[in-house]
Amino acid sequence: MLNIKSAEEVFPVMSAYGRFPITVVKGKGSYVWDDEGKKYLDYTAGIAVLALGHVPDAVETVLKKQLDTLWHCSNLFHIASQEKLAAMLTDLSCCDQVFFCNSGAEANEGAIKLARRYAHLIKHKENGHIVTFDHSFHGRTMATLTATAQEKIQNGFGPLVPGFRYLPYNSEEAIQAIAEDPDCIAVMLEMVQGEGGVLPADETWVKALSKVCGEKGILLIVDEVQTGIGRTGTLFAYEQYGIEPDVVTVAKALGSGIPIGAVLAKKEVSQVFTPGTHGSTFGGNPFATAAGVATLEAFEKQNVLEQCSKNAASLTNKLNELKEKHPDAIQSVRGKGLLIGVATFAPAIDIVNQMREKHQVLILTAGKNVLRILPPLITNENEINYFINALDQVLGD
Ligand SMILES: *Cc1c(COP(=O)(O)O)cnc(C)c1O
Repeated sequence: MLNIKSAEEVFPVMSAYGRFPITVVKGKGSYVWDDEGKKYLDYTAGIAVLALGHVPDAVETVLKKQLDTLWHCSNLFHIASQEKLAAMLTDLSCCDQVFFCNSGAEANEGAIKLARRYAHLIKHKENGHIVTFDHSFHGRTMATLTATAQEKIQNGFGPLVPGFRYLPYNSEEAIQAIAEDPDCIAVMLEMVQGEGGVLPADETWVKALSKVCGEKGILLIVDEVQTGIGRTGTLFAYEQYGIEPDVVTVAKALGSGIPIGAVLAKKEVSQVFTPGTHGSTFGGNPFATAAGVATLEAFEKQNVLEQCSKNAASLTNKLNELKEKHPDAIQSVRGKGLLIGVATFAPAIDIVNQMREKHQVLILTAGKNVLRILPPLITNENEINYFINALDQVLGD
């Protein structure tokens, strides 16, 4: 037997997360159950992962079959579900080729490597830098936490990775700075800054940014790890801005909860990844990509984007009504689709805790004074009403 310290001495899981005091053991649709059988309305959706809700039937059926067929196979062989998912993603986006990995950070890491190699091979530019924006979030690996322009994410992890420059989001000044920066090889941004406080990018600003990138031969990388796969009402949020990024990263919702990430790119850019230049053992694994295919097929069959837009309109209207009713509690309601932020005057975490304890509703924060509400895209009017009623009561107290 291994000599393991008892759980009383040292909690065996590292304390990298603050955790809510419940243990989730089961989920279906918009609901989860804890180990005491208590049922909760889950408007966190695994942080924007569970677009189709927990254990969606359509994906469950496919994965049960996949369990009996093939779990893993290396990328030294062709993988049918990987090629199918790549074809679906390129059909549905402005990109031509896909590299698969396992998470959002790994997808962004891949996008950064792709941009650097493109600069090296095609532009013959060494030591250029990538522009990212204040309050962004791109992941927790060394390069992606460096890309993340937030002191609290970087603190204590230096030396950081060279080759990044931070500029203010939604600012004219940033576009000017990029236009005048001969060493800028790429710009990476979120269409809605999720972790940074649910801040949507301004449409005119994004268009101007995209224009300047096009003129200067600077790659435009859109981090759709949180916004992608339907969260904002279109499959990718960039579609709503009338732009065509060179590189798009996705992860969270793509596998309905099975870990998967992907870097999508236009062929001029993707061609620089030749055999041996990049890799990932589990990336594009048969099980994960089968989940991805089943997820995108369910989007089509169940009109999930329409459901999302309808639910988003209803929920946003009702939140704005609550804002009118409780002007001392709610400052603003913002976001896109079902990526919704509610700026509050009181600490958001107090509201989150009361929603859970008194009404069995799970929601998140995004910073100190923002509630982050992330329902599964397939939520419905009954669930929205239950949620609004609960929030109304909590704000009334
Ligand atoms: C969650 C997130 C990431 C990181 O994804 P992981 O899967 O946690 O590595 C990167 N970018 C954005 C915009 C995210 O929301």
